[in-house]
Amino acid sequence: MRTTNICFAPHLSVFALTLLIIVSLVGRSTAQQHYLPDHHPHRHYLPTVSEQSSLNPKTNSPPTRPRLVLLIVVDQFRYDYLERFGDLFVAKGLGRLMREGAWWTSAAYDHMPTSTAPGHATLMTGTWPAENGIIGNEWFDRETGSSVTSVSDTAAKLLGGEEGAKAASPRRMLASTLGDELRLATQGRSKVIGISVKDRGAILTAGRGATAAYWFSAKTGQVVSSDYYFNQLPQWVTSFNNTRPADKYFGARWERLLPEAEYTRRAGPDAPSWEKTGTSKDTNTFPHIISGGASAPGPAFYDELPSSPFANDLLISFAEQAIAGELLGQDDDADVLSLSLSANDYVGHRFGPYSQEAMDITLRTDRQIAALLDYVDARVGLRNTVVAFTADHGVAPIPEHAAAVNLPGGRVKTSAMLEAVRARINARYAGGSGELQNGAPSARDYVQSFSNGQIYFNTAALMRDRINREEIERIAGEAAMTTLGIARYFTRTQLEAGRVSTTDPVARRVLHGFHPQRSGDVVIVCEPFKFFGESSATGTTHGSPYSYDTHVPLIIMGSEVKAGRYREAASPADIAPTLAALLRMQPPSNATGRVLLESLNVKSDK
Ligand SMILES: [Zn+2]
Ligand SMILES: [Zn+2]
Repeated sequence: MRTTNICFAPHLSVFALTLLIIVSLVGRSTAQQHYLPDHHPHRHYLPTVSEQSSLNPKTNSPPTRPRLVLLIVVDQFRYDYLERFGDLFVAKGLGRLMREGAWWTSAAYDHMPTSTAPGHATLMTGTWPAENGIIGNEWFDRETGSSVTSVSDTAAKLLGGEEGAKAASPRRMLASTLGDELRLATQGRSKVIGISVKDRGAILTAGRGATAAYWFSAKTGQVVSSDYYFNQLPQWVTSFNNTRPADKYFGARWERLLPEAEYTRRAGPDAPSWEKTGTSKDTNTFPHIISGGASAPGPAFYDELPSSPFANDLLISFAEQAIAGELLGQDDDADVLSLSLSANDYVGHRFGPYSQEAMDITLRTDRQIAALLDYVDARVGLRNTVVAFTADHGVAPIPEHAAAVNLPGGRVKTSAMLEAVRARINARYAGGSGELQNGAPSARDYVQSFSNGQIYFNTAALMRDRINREEIERIAGEAAMTTLGIARYFTRTQLEAGRVSTTDPVARRVLHGFHPQRSGDVVIVCEPFKFFGESSATGTTHGSPYSYDTHVPLIIMGSEVKAGRYREAASPADIAPTLAALLRMQPPSNATGRVLLESLNVKSDK
């Protein structure tokens, strides 16, 4: 169903030829300045047709666009990891990107909730959830009256996993991705592939018209996909699965890469009281033995593997197989490979951003990326590749850790907050009894769901009882504010009418995360260092509009990108528009991000 058949865009090489002719007609002086940098490391100017004909086409080929776009997303990789651990990176991994790429030090997401699906969807659509429709990892679906995930699809079948397992697809995405536009422009010749441990991490960066998305089955230890893309897995994927790729990590011992003192100095002791000790299968101290508590590879082990750096090794080797198996980056129709490494997120949730585990998986990720970049260099050539590196969100310090250093860390009891909301609603609409006077169902029916920090009202019940929406939204919001740890609330009425100031960063992030058909009716924002959860909970999370969740790395490396540290404000939503400019193509449909002009080797027309 995803075969592209609505393509009107000219083939890129036809476009290039047309450009070549125009250039030869109008003379080189202005056109050359506009389209080509004269200090480009690999070429000096676009030759005119007459000049070109006198050149050996093999040694003086005309300028080419990047042949491969490689997007590397590390789930939950905070910006500060580059600064705290960067001097320990190897030369050819993240260090290479920081040295040879353009590196934004203040890149931040401009939406909330800052969770995995909205973050990933932002990257290649170049816009926020209000535009691309991916408002959370999951949300309450009013149509079916149940919770759905960003990629759940009852019509899709899983390929490569266990029988009858739930599959996924990009059908909830409302905007096109960079890959979608590329496939339109090349009549589907460009290949667009997403890879992750998480289905959403693979699917949402690729897009609706992608060639494929692949993710990891924690039940079978295999790489799986969806019949949304094809009826059977490509042979190279089956061959990869036949090697039982997960099993070789069974019983693997996760030890620190460097001496312990280095970790203690930068990340504190190994086992502070606030770390989640987790299951009986593992402790919170090094070494971690990755077996899932089982005596042989099986579901318990496959379920545990994603929480270890070895899952990233598995994904990197799969990404290399994808490059080889799909011949990515081998011709002028640029391909897109997006790789999202998920293990860092699982480790971060459990141990927090100030842990030896977070530090060690960061150092290992750097080395894994070095191996991947070497592979891409050998196979495609880094000069033919544009690499973008970022994260889908950051993470808060573990609340108990924050509290231990006198920051206002804490967990806001969801149940207590909802109880306060229901009590106020009952008091106003049902005389406090919870029963409506006319004998209709309880006013408690009015609150139907709570998802992503948003209260969803039962729209039918409100209409039935002729409840004023604006009033009940305000009553619920004010009731929520009586709970300890709530900072603010925003109502549907307020957001739909645009009655929020976009110069207020929290309000703006709420607005950018709000989609009228999909979002709730009252958005609740916790105070910094606090999030919803019961007091028995451990570990940490992300989702807030605060900098520990929004501030992420943003690096773009490519032959037309000027290396350097950029202090301009930027957002991961700027990646897709910038890549589109580098590829000289149509940006994604709803792109709101800016082209990161300061880094491009293109002179202005002035
Ligand atoms: Zn994530
Ligand atoms: Zn997470």
